[in-house]
Amino acid sequence: MQLAERLDTVRAEIAQSARDAGRDSGEITTIVVTKFHPASLVRELAGLGVRDVGESRHQEALAKSAELDDLDLRWHFIGQLQSNKARQVRQYASVVHSVDRAALVTALAGEPVLEVFLQVNLTEDPGRGGARPEDLAGIAELVLSTPGLRLRGLMAVAPLDAEPRAAFARVRGYSERLLEVAPEASALSMGMSGDFRAAILEGATHLRIGSAITGNRPTRG
Ligand SMILES: *Cc1c(COP(=O)(O)O)cnc(C)c1O
Repeated sequence: MQLAERLDTVRAEIAQSARDAGRDSGEITTIVVTKFHPASLVRELAGLGVRDVGESRHQEALAKSAELDDLDLRWHFIGQLQSNKARQVRQYASVVHSVDRAALVTALAGEPVLEVFLQVNLTEDPGRGGARPEDLAGIAELVLSTPGLRLRGLMAVAPLDAEPRAAFARVRGYSERLLEVAPEASALSMGMSGDFRAAILEGATHLRIGSAITGNRPTRG
């Protein structure tokens, strides 16, 4: 299957899942994750109408966004981020999905306004990235009081060993608690190639889909 065909297939599946969930697919943003793929593939995607692209490694994202500066793309940073790289990520990213600690919030302060999602870790392994659920409210309050940040909601990756729909239902529960301190932060960034249908059924507003659209990723160099 070619790129355009895979993109159409995924778009149709998203629309169908939204109908199954009784939701309007217009409220769902699809971010095409292009990590490890060359800038030429991102350009091809832009030609097919893709506007939101996701990257997880700073150096790679910086280089690609510079090369594709002539395109009207919104870059979403979705990977683990060191605080000392935060200011540089701001140069190209409109949205950071992986905010998981106070030091990173402080480092991301600045201009213009940057949209942020708090990543919640659904596993017991701190190495997976994401804040512990019990720490979300405190980090959210810090975001709300930090200039130049707009808190959108929560981001999560379903654990490999769990049923995705149950994992996403947990995120929905954390979202309800987050809304008590941040009533505007209702967005949910969840759902990847293998589990976006389950995510849509649980209320995802931002899907991060890579390989189902791009094909297999080249092995990382
Ligand atoms: C790579 C990645 C994705 C996309 O994964 P696919 O399985 O290729 O769809 C989504 N979210 C994050 C955080 C990723 O690192």
